[in-house]
Amino acid sequence: MTPALHSKLPRVGTTIFTVMSQLADEHGALNLSQGFPDFAAHPQLLESVYRQMTLGHNQYAPMAGVAALREAIAEKNGALYGYTANPATEITVTPGATAALFAAIQASVGPGDEVIVFDPAYDAYEPAVTLAGGRTLHLPLSLPDFTVDWQRLRETITPRTRMIVINSPHNPSGTLWSRADLETLAAIVADTEILILSDEVYEHILFDGRRHHSVLSHEPLRERSFMVSSFGKTYHVTGWKIGYCIAPPPLTQALRKVHQYVTFSTSTPMQYALAEFMAHREHYLTLGDFYQAKRDLFCRLLEGSRFSFTPARGTYFQLLDYSAITQEDDRDYALRLI
Ligand code: PMP
Repeated sequence: MTPALHSKLPRVGTTIFTVMSQLADEHGALNLSQGFPDFAAHPQLLESVYRQMTLGHNQYAPMAGVAALREAIAEKNGALYGYTANPATEITVTPGATAALFAAIQASVGPGDEVIVFDPAYDAYEPAVTLAGGRTLHLPLSLPDFTVDWQRLRETITPRTRMIVINSPHNPSGTLWSRADLETLAAIVADTEILILSDEVYEHILFDGRRHHSVLSHEPLRERSFMVSSFGKTYHVTGWKIGYCIAPPPLTQALRKVHQYVTFSTSTPMQYALAEFMAHREHYLTLGDFYQAKRDLFCRLLEGSRFSFTPARGTYFQLLDYSAITQEDDRDYALRLI
C-alpha cells in the first residue's frame, strides 16, 4: 500500500492551463488558453544552440549562469533601464522565470510572513508562498483599468508583510504600471522591511508606443527588489525554460542558496546561444510592434461580436467581457464553448 501523503498544497489541483490545453487538443479547438507562441524562433538562434552543442557546451553551467550571458543581461538592462547590475553578484540565470520567482519567495518568506499579491494574479506566486510557510493576501485590482487601490494596500500592510508581488505588463489584463505607480509603491514601502518581487516577463511586449517601467529604473525600489524576466517570452522559446533574476547582492545571495538546491544550474548550450543572440537588439526592440499586429488582427475579428473589450496595452493576452452573452462563470462558459 502506498503510504498516505499529507499535501502541503491541499487546495492546488491541476492548473487551468493544463486543463484547457488538454481539452483544446482533444476537441481540435484553437488553444487560446496558454501563453505561448505558435510560430518558430529565429533560425539564427536555433542554429546557435546546435553550434554551441557541437562546440562541447554540454556540461553543467556555473551555478549563477554562464558568464557571457550574465554580462549580456547586465549590458542590456543597463541600456534599457539605466542600471547596469553586477553580473557576479546581482544576476542569476534560472530555469524559467518560474524558478526565479520560486527561489525569490523561498529565500525571503518564512512562517507567519505575509505576501501581498494583486488579483487577478499569475498562479505561480501563491503556492510558493504556501510552501514557504507564509500567507498570501489577495488585493483585487480595480476595474475597469486593473489599477491598484493604494489606500487598501496601505491598510493591508502589517508588521508581518514581507513581500509585495507586482507584475507589469500584467498577465492577464494586459495593463501596465506607470512611473507614478512605481513612485507611489516606493513611498508606501519606504520605511518598512518589505521586499518587492517584480515579475517583468512581458517587458518587451508593449503596444501603441508605450514604455516599460522596470523596478531597475527606480533606485529606492531596486534596492529592495527581485526583478524577474524570461527569455521564453522574448525569444518565442517558452519550452526552453530560461529566465533570470536581478537583485541586490544580499538578495541574490539568498536566492542562489535556494536555486543551487533546486536545479543548481540552467541548460548550458541555450545560455551560450542566447548570450550570442542577445546582440540582435532589434529583436526585442521591435517585439511590441510584432505582437501589436497580432493584437490588432484579433481585436478586428471580434468587432461586431457581443464581446466587449479594451485592447490590451501589452502582453499576449486579451481579456473579453462576455456579460452581454451569458451570466455563467468564466470556467463554465469556456468549457461550454469548447
Ligand atoms: N510570470 C508570468 C506573469 C507569466 O505569464 C509566465 C508564463 N506564463 C511566467 C512568469 C513564467 O515564465 P517562464 O516560462 O520563463 O517560467
